[in-house]
Amino acid sequence: MATAGKVIKCRAAVAWEAGKPLSIEEVEVAPPQAMEVRVKILYTALCHTDVYFWEAKGQTPVFPRILGHEAGGIVESVGEGVTELVPGDHVLPVFTGECKECAHCKSEESNLCDLLRINVDRGVMIGDGQSRFTIDGKPIFHFVGTSTFSEYTVIHVGCLAKINPEAPLDKVCVLSCGISTGLGATLNVAKPKKGSTVAIFGLGAVGLAAMEGAKMAGASRIIGVDLNPAKYEQAKKFGCTEFVNPNDHTKPVQEVLVEMTNGGVDSAVECTGNINAMISAFECVSDGWGVAVLVGVPHKDDVFKTQPMNFLSEKTLKGTFFGNYKPRTDLPEVVEMYMRKELDLEKFITHSVPFSQINTAFDLMLKGEGLRCVMRMEE
Ligand code: NAD
Ligand code: ZN
Repeated sequence: MATAGKVIKCRAAVAWEAGKPLSIEEVEVAPPQAMEVRVKILYTALCHTDVYFWEAKGQTPVFPRILGHEAGGIVESVGEGVTELVPGDHVLPVFTGECKECAHCKSEESNLCDLLRINVDRGVMIGDGQSRFTIDGKPIFHFVGTSTFSEYTVIHVGCLAKINPEAPLDKVCVLSCGISTGLGATLNVAKPKKGSTVAIFGLGAVGLAAMEGAKMAGASRIIGVDLNPAKYEQAKKFGCTEFVNPNDHTKPVQEVLVEMTNGGVDSAVECTGNINAMISAFECVSDGWGVAVLVGVPHKDDVFKTQPMNFLSEKTLKGTFFGNYKPRTDLPEVVEMYMRKELDLEKFITHSVPFSQINTAFDLMLKGEGLRCVMRMEE
């Protein structure tokens, strides 16, 4: 490619300050260094995690920064030592990586790669501790190793899943974070049995993907829990059989669920990021076999408080990043599930805007409207 080895100037949405609208700027993107890949992003979506780090209320502020981690793109050029990807390959960037060599990558249980696991406070590449983005020579920080709110970005090869080039990137881009996370949280971690009762806390895209997983697993009662009553109608399309709004009850929602199910749900998946919902999701599962899975990203100072008797009563609490999928090994197969029509992604994509209207996507997420807003880089 004519651009290989050269600095590329392109548009990126820069977050200069916490909570201030992003501004589209011309940035310089340096060529990829050893084990890195420069990717042309074609589509990127907004996940609530981007919003938390942009607001930086309960998180470490790192600015100026290029956010974004749910996306699809094409390899533009590769750095030294990259043998698995070549220019033209279709890829999904992932906020957590897979080096394929460490103890975690070799374990069947874990997807928390020692080298590339998510680090929300790091704003530079792991190879040399530098940023690949500059504006007039001044560095702009990266976000979770992906920074997809840019027409070109540089990503470690271990954070890129090579996928079927026939898969439409405007659809499968949502598998790069939210949908795979929710789906995997249920299928790989909660593992509900056929005919069981599952509660899903938080009916955004991640929670509804968790719900889709419960439906695939054959759950017979799927109880959606959300503070926003408007979320029920949409959730029905994902298999929601009952809905509980914690605000409609005077007693804690876990007690409501325990009563509704005569002793507690078989599994609960929390997809809110709210500490109280996390505690409720654990306390509403049945004694003896109930499993709760935490997915939401908490404020950095949150503390999970529950009575130890809940553990003695044989409830299990788990948590997961990226639905326990290993990005490079497992994600291409999730894309194939979509290609075989076993997984519908269209119903998650409620909005689509040109990249220049990225602040509209933030407004929609803040208002709780829609599920995923996909932004296209080409106007
Ligand atoms: P979203 O904002 O679209 O959905 C969250 C939903 O939770 C909303 O409908 C909101 O009304 C509801 N909610 C908030 N507080 C609640 C409470 N106390 N009780 C019940 N419902 C409540 O967000 P999303 O993009 O679907 O992401 C969901 C969460 O998953 C976020 O915290 C996000 O950061 C996290 N996440 C985690 C991972 C991971 O790998 N663990 C990956 C992606 C996203
Ligand atoms: Zn590893």
